[in-house]
This record gives sequence, C-alpha cells and structure tokens, in this order.
Amino acid sequence: MFKRILIANRGEIALRVIRACRELDIESVVVYSKADAGAPWLGLADDAICIGPAPSAQSYLSIPNIISAAEIANVDAIHPGYGFLSENEHFAEVCRSSNIEFIGPSVDAIHRMGNKSEAKAAAKKAGVPLVEGSDGPVASEAQALEVARRIGYPVLIKAVSGGGGRGMRVAHNDISLVNSMMSAQAEADAAFGDPSVYLERYLEGPRHVEIQILGDRRGEVVHLGERDCSIQRRHQKVIEESPSPALNPDLRKKMGRAAVRLAKEVGYHGAGTVEFLVQGKEFFFIEVNARIQVEHPVTETLTDIDLVKSQILVAAGEPLPFKQDDVEFRGHAMECRINAEDPDRGFAPSPGRIEAYAAPGGLGVRVDSHARAGYRIPPNYDSMIGKLIVHGTTRDEAIRRMRRALDEYVIDGIKTTLPLLRRVLRNSYFVAGDYSTRFLDQLLAT
Ligand code: ADP
Repeated sequence: MFKRILIANRGEIALRVIRACRELDIESVVVYSKADAGAPWLGLADDAICIGPAPSAQSYLSIPNIISAAEIANVDAIHPGYGFLSENEHFAEVCRSSNIEFIGPSVDAIHRMGNKSEAKAAAKKAGVPLVEGSDGPVASEAQALEVARRIGYPVLIKAVSGGGGRGMRVAHNDISLVNSMMSAQAEADAAFGDPSVYLERYLEGPRHVEIQILGDRRGEVVHLGERDCSIQRRHQKVIEESPSPALNPDLRKKMGRAAVRLAKEVGYHGAGTVEFLVQGKEFFFIEVNARIQVEHPVTETLTDIDLVKSQILVAAGEPLPFKQDDVEFRGHAMECRINAEDPDRGFAPSPGRIEAYAAPGGLGVRVDSHARAGYRIPPNYDSMIGKLIVHGTTRDEAIRRMRRALDEYVIDGIKTTLPLLRRVLRNSYFVAGDYSTRFLDQLLAT
C-alpha cells in the first residue's frame, strides 16, 4: 500500500482526497498555488507545497512543477482529482515513468476515452448503442453536410477533445451548419488545443443518465448504478440524483451492463463514468469520464462504497473487495452543487470573502466543502464552492431533506446559487421527476 500520496488539485476535491488518505493511514501532501496560500484545506494535509503563481497554467496544470513537488515530497502516488490534469494522458505517463503511480486508469484507456470519437468507436465495438452521427471527426464542410443529410437536422457539433459542456453548437439547417463549423473548430482549438469536431444527432430534451464504474487491475469491473444529471445549466450539471426517475429496472440493467462491457473493452481500471442520453426507453452513449467525478457522493451515499478510497486501493493493485451482486442500493440520494455565482448577473463568478458561513446538518445530510467564514474565494478557478448531498428512504424524503438543508445553509458576503437551488427543489415538475436537460434553461427563461 502507498505510504504517501500527492494531491494535484485544490478545493473540495483536495479535501475529499485528504480525508480518504487519513482514513487509510496514508500521508497526504497537497500542492497549492500562491492564490491558495493559507487556504483552509492545506492545514488538514500532512504537508503542503507551493507549485507556482495563481494562473493554472503555471501551477495546477504545470506537469514539471507537480512532478518536482512529488519528487521533493517523496510520494508513491499522485491523485489528480477532477479537472486540471486528471484526464491528461501525458501527465499519467510522466508520473508512471517517474516511478510514481498515477491514481487513475492506464495511459491507453485515458487516451481512448479522452478522444471522444475514439471512445465512440470503442463503444460501438462493445455493442453499446450510440447517438447517430459521424464516424470519427469531420474534416470538411462537404463531409459535414453529407452526415447531416444522413442523420437529419438538428445536428450537434462537438469537439473531439471537448469537456465541461463547452464548444457545442446546434445547427438546424445547412447554412447554420456551415457557419457553426468554422466557429466551433476555432473555439475547440483555443479551448482544447485540438480543432477537430464531430457531429451527432441533436436529441430534443433527453435525460443525462450516467453509470458509475469501478474496475481493478485484474480485469474485474462492476457498476455502481446510475446518476441522473439532467438538471444542467448550459450543459453543466447543477443537481444530480439516484435512482433516476426516468429508468425502469430493465433499462437500468441494460445500461449497467453496457457500461461494464465498454469498460472491459478498453481494459479500464479505477473509477470512471460512462455517460448516456436517455430518451423514452432508449439510451445512447455519449462519453466516458476517466476520473472521479464531482457527483460521486451520490453513489457513495446510495451504496456505502467509498469511491476515493476504492480508487486508491485499486491503484495500489488490490482487488475489488466486492462483486456485482454484493452491491446494494439503499433509498434515494441527491446532490446540489453550490457555486459562487451571481444568478442576477448571468451567473457571473462572484469571488470574494465569505463573511458568515453555517453549513446544514442532521440526519442524512453531507456537506463536502472547503468553504468557511473568513475564506476568500480566489477569482482564478472554478466557481464551485461546495456540494450538499442528502439521503432519504424515498425520493420524497430526499427532496424534503434537501429543501430544509438548503434553507439552513448560510453563505454571506458573496453571491451563490443557493436561491436558484431552493427554487428548483420547489418546482412541481422537478418534484414529479418530470424533467430533461432543458429544464433549467427553460426555468431561467421564465
Ligand atoms: P462535455 O464533455 O463537454 O461535458 P458531453 O458529451 O458530456 O460534453 O455532453 C454534455 C451535455 O450536453 C449532455 O449532458 C447533454 O445535456 C448535452 N448533449 C450532449 N450531446 C447531446 C446530443 N447529441 N443531443 C442533445 N444533447 C446533448
């Protein structure tokens, strides 16, 4: 087992990994940028090393700086968290060639899953249903038009190396397709360093339902059920829950099996998520996230399996301590992401000092957050400052618990998305479980 782990991340996920290490008696060393000097989670690790100035490119995304810190700290492994370098195959390769274990899947699996058109090819090979679209990237306007005629409008233009809901464009006809192709390629190049794009049929109002998978290095893969992440703003998740109100037992079983087949096809180990869109009784693969996800506590709450500890154990070569049939799902879990954003100013980031802070508590309530009173949120990074997770025996109880927990939550001094979350939890369509990925954008338009 590892003795010392370096955490190449910040904020709530750094704190989450520190906690897992502590429970496993593993020492944790956390890196930080100058913008995060003195941040609350640093004091909870066994050691903290400054890796550069505020901009991510010079700190949390700097492979040489992080590897130097790992060497100075003499760690056995690196946990990348999510975002930053978590799905960077080059980083995984450098870690392993420096004799430091990268806590995540193999370089080959990261490569095949990170490139979305390769991931779709792997899914096809594993017999997993796909959204109709181009076979691989589209190179020219003529090819794009040909694909669009075959699959029919509306079509979605997506970046091959995309992520975070960015760079997607819907085209309703030939003219908008040609116009959007160019700007999508330019945007993809600027954001991801890769201009290639592919096309998919644009589903009108699907649900986003994903399957959590966990594999060990001996080829065993299990799935840990689904998360419904259809409550999104601009293709970014805001609320997640499990079980999904949209699945019946048959669909759930088929999706779980499809996810495991794909994982086995690419020799996946570690934690990962296979994302699908669901429409009616059909499901379509969209992508794999080859890392721990923000919404992992939903699954932990439902299954009592600690996903971060599992990631660490599997990376150290341990076998999965349970089989598919041992996994049990209890009750209903729900997560709200709390962002430092101003809903009245188009959700612009709202960094600054938290003047007063009181987190909710009580039965079935979990708060994963690095925030506290007096903490100054730097303007340089993601605006998520915490996650509120609740558990109930039924969906109705989880909703009531989430409402009262959101009402208890006090974060003063900055603007947050708490008022929006309170509104969603009281919306009759949400309460009925009747929502699609367009729900929130429609609610905000009213
Ligand atoms: P990213 O990696 O940028 O997050 P995804 O492929 O995971 O991109 O898609 C993010 C979200 O975009 C989905 O949850 C869904 O809301 C929407 N989306 C993606 N593909 C489609 C599609 N073919 N039709 C309709 N909506 C889609």
